[in-house]
Amino acid sequence: MAVPTPQTLTGLTLEELTDQLGSRTRALAAVRWLYAGALPPELPERIPGVAANAWAGVRARFALPRASVRERRVSVDGTIKFLIALDGVAVESVLIPSRGRSTICLSSQSGCTRHCAFCATATLGFKRQLTAGEIVAQFLIARAEAPSDAPATNVVFMGMGEPLDNLDEVLRAVRVLTQSPAPQLGAEQITVSTSGVLPGMQRFLRESSASLALSLNATTDEQRDALMPHNRKWPIASLLGALREHAAADPSRVHFIEYVLFDGVNDSDADAERLAALLEGLPARVNLIPHNPMGSSSLRAPAAERVLAFQKRLRGFGRLCFVRWPRGQEIAAACGQLALTARPEVRE
Ligand code: SF4
Repeated sequence: MAVPTPQTLTGLTLEELTDQLGSRTRALAAVRWLYAGALPPELPERIPGVAANAWAGVRARFALPRASVRERRVSVDGTIKFLIALDGVAVESVLIPSRGRSTICLSSQSGCTRHCAFCATATLGFKRQLTAGEIVAQFLIARAEAPSDAPATNVVFMGMGEPLDNLDEVLRAVRVLTQSPAPQLGAEQITVSTSGVLPGMQRFLRESSASLALSLNATTDEQRDALMPHNRKWPIASLLGALREHAAADPSRVHFIEYVLFDGVNDSDADAERLAALLEGLPARVNLIPHNPMGSSSLRAPAAERVLAFQKRLRGFGRLCFVRWPRGQEIAAACGQLALTARPEVRE
């Protein structure tokens, strides 16, 4: 089986490892070893259950991703934010413990080519795509620090980058993360969040059973054009149309709508009513996210009462709607903020 290059060991699927090691039994043993704990520091000469010559061949062809934690900040609420150096670039990953389980937020690109007005990553420019192996490496690094009573069972692609602009590698990473016997996450426990890249959404919905979250953030194209300029290419109706089309084909799949609330921009009662109307008939759950402000931006989060009033209004239309209060604010946990505030020498 041909493996796209450059690919590291944590970017190989079980099928590819089977091919490389010449036996599924060996590949299962290798996967159990590789995903037993944290990202291994190096590849040993032997691993249990794999013939020495077969393993030597894999060692010669595939390395581990070069990943190291450059900065680590722990919030009073238990959130841990990592700045991870990956072969010449730096990305952010976040471990978010909650009751009984932890969620890991992963980056898919170093920087981003989109220009969302509210995002710290947008100000960093674009460095490069991450490989699937590098995405999985972030997961292993963060998972190793999950509390024992809150194991890392959930993944969200809401870190640096637009995942659907790096779709081949994101789909490959999802395949690795969900494979048995390890890491064995459920597809429904993985959520890929998009700023609204229409062709990528259509392909993702066809090819993956992981969850899709559309970061909508506006109820008119005028509003959204100002917040997310690529809305001019793929306006709101086209994005919701793609979700509707897929929901008609697969009514069991629930979509997520992320709606970042900005004070005085998109948080009015009229916005709540327009949002309810836009989503009419679509099986979608809304997550309201009060904006996590960044230094120089004039965009601010609404007061808590306004957030709750917006939620109540939306719920009044029968829409399932939750508020995701920001975690780890004092450690710059929103996407791109740590890289922006980090010392220049750790930005790479
Ligand atoms: S919000 Fe996402 S898509 Fe928009 S600039 Fe930031 S990382 Fe890129």
